[in-house]
Amino acid sequence: MTFVFIGGPMKSGKTLELIARVAPFEFAKKRITYVQPKKNTREEHITSRLGLNTRAVVVESLGEVNDFDVVGVDEINMFEPGDAEVIEQWVREGKDVFISGLDLDYRGIMPPIVKEVLELKPDVVIIKQAVCEVCHTYDAHFTQILKGNEPVLGGLPLITPDDGTYIYEARCRKCFLRKKK
Ligand SMILES: [Zn+2]
Repeated sequence: MTFVFIGGPMKSGKTLELIARVAPFEFAKKRITYVQPKKNTREEHITSRLGLNTRAVVVESLGEVNDFDVVGVDEINMFEPGDAEVIEQWVREGKDVFISGLDLDYRGIMPPIVKEVLELKPDVVIIKQAVCEVCHTYDAHFTQILKGNEPVLGGLPLITPDDGTYIYEARCRKCFLRKKK
């Protein structure tokens, strides 16, 4: 049994990493389930921006997931904090648990569910990085949301559409803009 967390900004290969870590269990004849939040999609697939895609169950809450030995949860940041209890139960039952998602939101703030998952102390924490879309260094840990050319520093709902209204950029710490405290 293993408990792995994969975090990072957009376009850092988190979903690819999730699939790469879960897929080998198929050869061990284990029951594998990939999970996606309903908030994100109605499609029953998880798709990496880097091209891979695989079937997934779409749920509102992790409590709806059952009958598996190995689970890969994508977009954990879109689940509610209470779902961390479900993850803790899976780990205690000896399941192989892989969780991925944005570890920081567009404001550079850790979503409550992500904080709770990290407090469960995963055996392995992988923090992916992306290429900064401003200066092109391979050191982007943040996700900037822009409307037109203007960064949006606050006031957005939890889920923003992926229909072109907003632009999502991976950015390094020098290029990432956050609201002054
Ligand atoms: Zn940069």
